[in-house]
Amino acid sequence: MINKFKDFIGNTENLKVLQNKILSKTIPNAFLFYGPSGLGKKTLAYIFSASLNCMNRSDKDAEPCGICSNCKRIFTDTYPDVKLITREPDRASISIEQVREIKKQAYQTA
Ligand SMILES: [Zn+2]
Repeated sequence: MINKFKDFIGNTENLKVLQNKILSKTIPNAFLFYGPSGLGKKTLAYIFSASLNCMNRSDKDAEPCGICSNCKRIFTDTYPDVKLITREPDRASISIEQVREIKKQAYQTA
């Protein structure tokens, strides 16, 4: 499993943008990863999320450690603050209902 920016192949422009956002601490409230299947959108989104939540990352490096509990939970889809939305099989895109549900979940307290 690829869990570091340095191991990700391709999309070098997008990698730089994401890493610069992390290092400059100018994170927009949303990023949209879209494009044909097989580009690594999900992998890159997980690496980005891990970097933002990694407990061992230094402020001078955007690389997540990949081994702390936050990184492990993000890459296994069990981190409560990182949610992956994908289109449902019978839909052409993510539905507004899916977005509303994720917003609702985000505002719920445990
Ligand atoms: Zn980590």
